[in-house]
Amino acid sequence: MKIITEPARHTPVILNTDVLVVGSGPGGLAAALAAARAGVQVCMVERFGCYGGNITVVGVEGLAWYRHEKTVEANGIGREFEDRAKAMGAAVPESQSLSYELDSEGFKLVADRLVEEAGIHGMMHRQFVAPVMEGDRIAGIIVESKAGREAILAQVVIDATGDADIAVRCGAPAHKTPTEDMQAASVMFHLAGVDKTAFMAEVTADPQTYKDWSTGEWTVETDGKEDDMFSPFLKKPFAKAIEQGLIPKHLNTIAGTWGAIHDTGELTYMNLVHLAGIDGTDPDSMTKGEVEGRKQAMLAIEALRQYMPGCKGVRLRNFGMSIGIRDTRKIDALYNMTEADVRYEGRFEDTIGIYPEFIDGYGILIIPTTGRYMQIPYRSMLPKGVKGLLVAGRAIGGDRVAHAATRNMACCAVAGQGAGVAAAFAVKTGRDVAEIDIGAVQSELVRQGVRIQ
Ligand SMILES: Cc1cc2nc3c(=O)[nH]c(=O)nc-3n(C[C@H](O)[C@H](O)[C@H](O)COP(=O)(O)OP(=O)(O)OC[C@H]3O[C@@H](n4cnc5c(N)ncnc54)[C@H](O)[C@@H]3O)c2cc1C
Repeated sequence: MKIITEPARHTPVILNTDVLVVGSGPGGLAAALAAARAGVQVCMVERFGCYGGNITVVGVEGLAWYRHEKTVEANGIGREFEDRAKAMGAAVPESQSLSYELDSEGFKLVADRLVEEAGIHGMMHRQFVAPVMEGDRIAGIIVESKAGREAILAQVVIDATGDADIAVRCGAPAHKTPTEDMQAASVMFHLAGVDKTAFMAEVTADPQTYKDWSTGEWTVETDGKEDDMFSPFLKKPFAKAIEQGLIPKHLNTIAGTWGAIHDTGELTYMNLVHLAGIDGTDPDSMTKGEVEGRKQAMLAIEALRQYMPGCKGVRLRNFGMSIGIRDTRKIDALYNMTEADVRYEGRFEDTIGIYPEFIDGYGILIIPTTGRYMQIPYRSMLPKGVKGLLVAGRAIGGDRVAHAATRNMACCAVAGQGAGVAAAFAVKTGRDVAEIDIGAVQSELVRQGVRIQ
């Protein structure tokens, strides 16, 4: 590959802040709110034109679809996302659980409101491109935007990009799932024009369960207790479409869940397209995925029109503004969570919050109907070899099965809130994030309403 050398540049410093959060998904948004509420100056940088990450950008609306009567949770900012969305008319009852499904458009307003109320300096439309290093400490970041190249300095940086972009650029060790083993990427979409009565009559007449996920292309390991539970799963219309030659045979991966059906005829959070081999850190691969995903979505919609009662007049309302990526890099943290931690109720001295025994990914589905839960250790957010940096959200340290639990949005919010409070304490005490008093962080988290044990 031909390489060019860029000339050195003088870059204006546009802001100097206490805590800088990069990325505004469930991890970043929770981190920024928690740090601001712990009393420090916070700036949150986001490359797109809305906060919320996958919720608003991709259209992932199911924040707590695992919740059942006995589910035990951290509450905290993750729960607040749901409660505030409900209060602002941006959530509807979720179809398979005791939770509310976020409205991906309405949540943009919820996030704006939360950021404003907390006094966070929000910066959209700026993309992180490089760290500013002072020896082995990150002192800020370089962003690029329509305004050119700019620097933002901070005492602590929280990498909530989902892909550990900052940690990796700082040289911290990380690992990426081999592309062929990555969880599938999805182009998500929302529909309009559904006859709700007819659609629900079919769902009631022929209820699908989590066991049905194991038909055809996939097999899913459960605990057994999930097998007869209702799932808003759609497979039959697509199998029929393959039988009738409407969908090519090799696209037997078109199947999955719907989220909410609205009285106004919208059917949202259509999680039906699953693309293997798409690398979310490779823009060429993502370009291919966007185009192929949209094609497959249109085939799915045609199949629904023809073979799913209530969907005759259905039309595409919108695609998520970006392909949805589930799986890329994870940092090699001071502690990497393990399969045993998430399967057998891991407990840690440095817990910053709990998460129910909800494992969803890599062919495993465990729903927390039992009251079992794990704790999230602070060390899983500390990258090796870089000072002043925390990683929150889906890139925290852990193995595959651990990631199938920690990648979930409510867990990203737990980690984010912990990272935000820890960053604030690091600023206030003048210590590095690896050397803070974890007891003080835990007390503040409890004050902020988080269950940590
Ligand atoms: C199709 C799909 C369905 C899913 N379904 C569910 C589900 O039902 N329930 C559930 O709990 N989880 C689900 N997940 C997983 C969940 O959405 C993610 O794991 C979670 O959103 C990760 O949160 P995060 O805050 O780490 O990152 P993200 O939500 O990815 O947010 C990262 C943010 O950082 C910004 N960013 C990234 N790079 C940069 C940069 N260089 N500069 C500036 N900003 C940047 C992005 O624009 C984004 O806003 C699903 C994921 C996908 C893709």
